[in-house]
Amino acid sequence: MIFNQQQSLHKELSRYRALQKTIGFVPTMGALHTGHLSLVEKALSQNGIVVVSIFVNPTQFNNASDLQKYPRSLDQDVKLLQTLNGVVLIYAPKPSDLYGKQVISKHYDFGGLENPMEGKFRKGHFDGVGTVLNLLFRAIRPDKAYFGEKDFQQLQVVRKLVQLEKLPVEIVGCPISREPHGLAMSSRNNRLSDTQFEEAGLIYQTLKEVQYKFDQYSVTKLKDWVQKQFSKNAHLELEYFEIAIAKTLKPAVRKRSGNTYRAFIAVFAGEVRLIDNMALN
Ligand code: AMP
Repeated sequence: MIFNQQQSLHKELSRYRALQKTIGFVPTMGALHTGHLSLVEKALSQNGIVVVSIFVNPTQFNNASDLQKYPRSLDQDVKLLQTLNGVVLIYAPKPSDLYGKQVISKHYDFGGLENPMEGKFRKGHFDGVGTVLNLLFRAIRPDKAYFGEKDFQQLQVVRKLVQLEKLPVEIVGCPISREPHGLAMSSRNNRLSDTQFEEAGLIYQTLKEVQYKFDQYSVTKLKDWVQKQFSKNAHLELEYFEIAIAKTLKPAVRKRSGNTYRAFIAVFAGEVRLIDNMALN
């Protein structure tokens, strides 16, 4: 069932609440793929009913052309969700239904989680993410909400958001779904040419190699090696590669025992921006 307005969604949700059903929530920007569906399936396995929001959130885009070109395929998304077993309610609002008249973001202090990597290269991105999720959480009041590790920095920011806003929701992290050659599934992959799609396998191969080499080499050596890998490729341009402490997302300078590290990468294939990450130890 699809809802464009909070009011009708609230009504339907209260029916399920009265039946003591728990509510799982999967926020998305649509153009759904197997990665999104894996989150919805997990949510269905742990809840009585699941809400999937489909909303391309304007306030989290720092680039107008990226927002304009973001793939939109609501009819196809609805069909895909209907193939799943279980009750899925789709919330696909207009900006005004969530934001009211002013579609602007609130400013958040996520304790530094918002500053490196995506935060550094997409100014204001996490303010937009925090704002829309705060509005969505308050509109849906889910018991659990599901987020992909594909956007690992976002996952950490959301955990912090829930603390800051004192929201009674459990955040569940879900593994990254990948194409057969390793590229992380993404709505943006639709915009890649066949060659770009094939070449983008280098992102995963590079992360795997860094994971393999992590014990033997320094952070500086690994970062230099990654730069070289991408400088040799005519189809891909490295925006950043970072090794950071998984919990705080502070970029690592030197490895210290006891810390859990993760590699983070952003790459342009033509105009299409792709991100990925991987646990290193
Ligand atoms: P998006 O529609 O890109 O905003 O993504 C909605 C949710 O799906 C986010 O929690 C993403 O992290 C998650 N997601 C996107 N791609 C993948 C993937 N390849 N594997 C797992 N989760 C994903």
